[in-house]
Amino acid sequence: MSTSPIWHPFTQHGLCEPIPLVTHGEGAALFTEDGRRIIDGISSWWVTTHGHCHPRIMAAIAEQAGKLDQIIFAGWTHEPAETLARALLEIMPPALTRIFFSDSGSTSVEVALKMALGFWANRGAPPHRILVMEHSYHGDTIGAMSVGARGVFNAPYTPLLFDVGTLPFPAVGREQATLDALEAACREAPAAFIVEPLVLGAGGMLFYPAWVLAEMRAICARYDVLFIADEVMTGWGRTGTLLACEQAGVVPDILCLSKGLTGGAVPLAVTMASEAVYDAHLSTDRARMFFHSSSYTANPIACAAANANLAIWRDEPVRDRIAALAHRQRQRLDALAALPGFTNPRALGTIAAIDLADEPGAGYLSQRAPGLLAHFRENDLLLRPLGTTVYVMPPYCIDAADLDRLYAGIAEAAAAMARRR
Ligand SMILES: *Cc1c(COP(=O)(O)O)cnc(C)c1O
Repeated sequence: MSTSPIWHPFTQHGLCEPIPLVTHGEGAALFTEDGRRIIDGISSWWVTTHGHCHPRIMAAIAEQAGKLDQIIFAGWTHEPAETLARALLEIMPPALTRIFFSDSGSTSVEVALKMALGFWANRGAPPHRILVMEHSYHGDTIGAMSVGARGVFNAPYTPLLFDVGTLPFPAVGREQATLDALEAACREAPAAFIVEPLVLGAGGMLFYPAWVLAEMRAICARYDVLFIADEVMTGWGRTGTLLACEQAGVVPDILCLSKGLTGGAVPLAVTMASEAVYDAHLSTDRARMFFHSSSYTANPIACAAANANLAIWRDEPVRDRIAALAHRQRQRLDALAALPGFTNPRALGTIAAIDLADEPGAGYLSQRAPGLLAHFRENDLLLRPLGTTVYVMPPYCIDAADLDRLYAGIAEAAAAMARRR
């Protein structure tokens, strides 16, 4: 029984599973107090892009910590935020001209939803309904949960979650049904459609094709419905391109970025908006301003880390690393898929996922999941299956040997599970 007073996220303390204490990290490896070297196969929950403790990001944090730690951001500004905003404009789609800072993916989504509602309210129009996609995940605050899938994760809070319009997931062969549902819903003049481009992450690493994303964007444009892209997970190279939207030639009205924004080192998020969304709030009337803030909005140390991340994207061969990792992942995934017990292998960019065949539709609370998790932990692998979906989403710097160990671990875990039955 743990003597720590800490209440961990997504952890059932009643099961008394061991909680390793990590002392330091480097590249794709984490080191524990009892001397183990753990391979980080999920980028510490999808955030660590260039590897743990990247020297340039650490140096930028240290340097900024010696200058300015924190400053109110309402009515004040600072150099790291100004530099970051300009650098983002340079690499993000030109139509996204305004940058609002917050602290996490969830808050970037709350900000996006509030911007969309403010856009319509300030234009004197009433639309407020939000459209979402089945199986989506946008965060764990009440608003973000409202636009995400309903299930065991949020059952106690359902009475408080606001009503949304849900489109069916565009599964293979059923893409047109999604597009038809979106078009029908758009005729009723909703405020916005929020979607994870190309990959639904927490919903089970579900992929859909770029042409569907492009069509969805076109339908929203045709009906004047704001299109919000939640690239909190897919952004910063995860799907092979800087943004997943690029692969569909799509530019949203509002874009949410977090996780890899600081290379995964410290929390920071941005919500980028089109000039039209910004303009709707622009007035001499103070009642029309954008009423949102959090204490640490655009924290200077976090912005300095993000600036270092952008410098790494500028001067290091990040895109080559991503392409090489994508290639290696696909080879190893193909080998895994050839083994018995696996089904539905899928890969995009640095994300590879596969399902355990023997328990279809078991969902997050699958009986297999705890056994898998324990097997990985005992073998010094940081992998965290979503139900019976096992996925590998490592830092881009992971080497071939560590990647091999991750895939060997998955094969062994599946074999061990099959023996146990
Ligand atoms: C992780 C995630 C979020 C929430 O981000 P947090 O930083 O955990 O609040 C939102 N949207 C997507 C698509 C995510 O993967």
